[in-house]
Amino acid sequence: MANNSLLAVGTVAFDAIDTPFGSRPRVIGGAATYITLAASYYTQHVGLVAVVGDDFPQEEIAHLNSRGINTEGLQIKQGEKSFFWHGSYHLDMNSRDTLTTELNVLANFDPIIPQSQANADYLMLGNLTPAVQLQTLQRMAKRPKLVVMDTMNFWMDIALEELKQVIAKVDVLTINDEEARQLSGERSLRRAARLILQMGPNYLIIKKGEHGAMLFGREESEIFFAPALPLEEVVDPTGAGDTFAGGFVGYLAHHNETGWNAMRSAIIHGSAMASFCVEKFGPEGLKDLTKTQIDNRVDIFRDLVRF
Ligand code: AMP
Repeated sequence: MANNSLLAVGTVAFDAIDTPFGSRPRVIGGAATYITLAASYYTQHVGLVAVVGDDFPQEEIAHLNSRGINTEGLQIKQGEKSFFWHGSYHLDMNSRDTLTTELNVLANFDPIIPQSQANADYLMLGNLTPAVQLQTLQRMAKRPKLVVMDTMNFWMDIALEELKQVIAKVDVLTINDEEARQLSGERSLRRAARLILQMGPNYLIIKKGEHGAMLFGREESEIFFAPALPLEEVVDPTGAGDTFAGGFVGYLAHHNETGWNAMRSAIIHGSAMASFCVEKFGPEGLKDLTKTQIDNRVDIFRDLVRF
């Protein structure tokens, strides 16, 4: 196995999405889907650990495989239903309400890591039960070189203590601004970042949706900001955060670097990938990108902030 291989654990799901401008009752979703699709544009050594029911379409798995994503770790539970999430976006297309979360197969998910991937150097703990994130980390054959973790308010509300145990063990945590405030109890994002970094991680990424993302390190001088692309039309923001994380960790895995400067470039790449994601419903915008399209978008980001 290559020394820059990436393993992602997370949901592979069905989503129902309502926006003020259109709806889709059933699209493919889930954190691991978006993470691995985005990362697959950076490295050919991507695997996922996830679970679905027998209702999950074989052609969607084939699509992941066609992007080079190793799905050996995708368990298919006969007679069970896949994770289902229904979200509804507000007019600003930035905030949303969760209308339904049906755990289904996720309720008893035992993350089994294929032997061929237990040595991965880069581990992405996608948004999912903290207990499963922790189990995945503990089951790796060795401590990966970099562990990135995403989570959400849902888990802060129902499993805070377990969540904190995982946070203590990771290198990079990605959350949105409201979640950073909830986790730290601090309104100022700078103070929130300092408190969260004291919980364990060396780096914190605070995602601010259409307002970009901030990266904080432990040094006072380690603050970096990546804008989000001001797009003319956002069709569906679902998966933007996971796509961002996938582009971020995929970039680091490809370059096999984990220092501050690499992280700065990585969040620009994550933001560029997220901009493709929100242009279409579900993961559609991530299906057939070319290297030129991605390079061009990264250039636009460069121009946006250079002065
Ligand atoms: P994002 O828009 O980046 O926050 O990610 C949206 C994806 O997260 C959707 O495709 C959902 O299937 C998935 N998702 C929603 N709620 C949860 C949850 N509680 N745990 C894990 N995945 C979730």
